Amino acid sequence: MRIAIVEGDGIGKEVMPEAVKILDYFCEKHNFQIEKVPVEVGFGKWEKTGEAITDADVATLKSCDAVLFGAITTVNDPSYKSVVLRIRKELDLFANVRPIRPILGIEKILTPPASCFVRSNVDMVIVRENTEGLYSGIEEIGEERSTTLRVITKKASERISKFASALASSRKNKLTVVHKSNVMKSDKLFLDTCKKTALLGFVETNDMLVDAFSYDMLMRPEKYDVIVTTNLFGDILSDTGTVMLGSIGLAPSANIGEKYALFEPVHGSAPDIAGKNIANPIAMILSLKMMLEWMKMNREAAVLEKSISVAVSEKKVTPDLGGNLSTQDVGKFILEQVKILD
Ligand code: ATP
Ligand code: MG
Repeated sequence: MRIAIVEGDGIGKEVMPEAVKILDYFCEKHNFQIEKVPVEVGFGKWEKTGEAITDADVATLKSCDAVLFGAITTVNDPSYKSVVLRIRKELDLFANVRPIRPILGIEKILTPPASCFVRSNVDMVIVRENTEGLYSGIEEIGEERSTTLRVITKKASERISKFASALASSRKNKLTVVHKSNVMKSDKLFLDTCKKTALLGFVETNDMLVDAFSYDMLMRPEKYDVIVTTNLFGDILSDTGTVMLGSIGLAPSANIGEKYALFEPVHGSAPDIAGKNIANPIAMILSLKMMLEWMKMNREAAVLEKSISVAVSEKKVTPDLGGNLSTQDVGKFILEQVKILD
């Protein structure tokens, strides 16, 4: 198996090595044949060469099975095109998956305001359709009137609902379709398609309007299992959902396609703390954990999760969680735990 390693910019360069050391350990210990392929893309490359990602980079990514991705700075310059959007499109990564499950023990070390939102019994996954909706890119920009076309197709709705239903059936078998079909008729197609697919898979389904859901998700999060929703709603809800984890530095994500998958922390390149060796590496390491699960290395994923939980419980954490360890020290502590538990 070939894994592309994209460190990217800013703290991406600091958190990725901590995840890679853990991957290297598992490969060596259990003799897994994984070839790591470093790929340099992003803002740093754009500054040097004028291109943030080249066709050759895309070809390299396509020669791999999965991508472990750090973070990339996106600047507001018309000549700078989003690298992440291009990769999502080229690799056809149609499902964005964000688990909302706090790390065991996190509630003990947090202080307000972060601690107010964390509830240890939450275990849900937000599945966001990644290819259409309000991100269709079909726009007419004018002085008096600007429009963005919201595209919902049966094909993409079927694909995402199949994915979400399969995920639900491997968990608590509950699927919640989040939409706004009372106002936007385009969502009727999304809702009907999701319900039909879930029915075929014997998955228990309900649906909620996005406004009511955003309130209920924070008030009664333990009710939910898998959430499936369209592109923009998923974008907003999954960021809101991360407050239930305790820190943005703890939120992992996966972008899944039929052929490829990409695993990345939810946070960006955090230029404000880059170079200080204080970035929390746990979101990156949890993204590696999601990759291990995708590779069916479930035992290793469980060992890794337990090791992270030990670090958190013993407050071996970075300043964002009230600790005083550096990025590298947290990575080192987690790796040591992995070696003990593995
Ligand atoms: P970008 O432009 O790359 O998206 P950003 O500044 O918009 O960067 P983030 O990188 O997500 O967005 O950062 C948001 C805030 O969260 C910043 O104050 C940053 O320092 C903090 N932050 C993000 N990731 C981490 C982390 N891993 N550990 C600690 N703090 C973090
Ligand atoms: Mg950002």
